[in-house]
Amino acid sequence: MSVPLDKMDPSPPYVPPTRVVSATTGPEPAQVVCPSCHAEIVTQTEQEANTKTHIYALLLCLALCWPCVCLPYCCTSCRDTVHRCPRCKSFIGVYRR
Ligand SMILES: [Zn+2]
Repeated sequence: MSVPLDKMDPSPPYVPPTRVVSATTGPEPAQVVCPSCHAEIVTQTEQEANTKTHIYALLLCLALCWPCVCLPYCCTSCRDTVHRCPRCKSFIGVYRR
């Protein structure tokens, strides 16, 4: 009538890591594992003018809409969202519109 000790103290169930490293970045800050410092971080986002922004500005320029030339640079929908690691400042990814 002896019960082995290991049967009385069951080990906790194995929980597989749910960490998902996703390369897909959206316009919002995303929780990722930094490929550079391997820390779990929420990306720091910044808006950056892209080629499309310059093309819009050039078109407005050609259309003689001088006061509107700065509009593409002010409008966030015309710019890319660049994701960076807040710890090591390394580039994570970019969301292009
Ligand atoms: Zn990092």
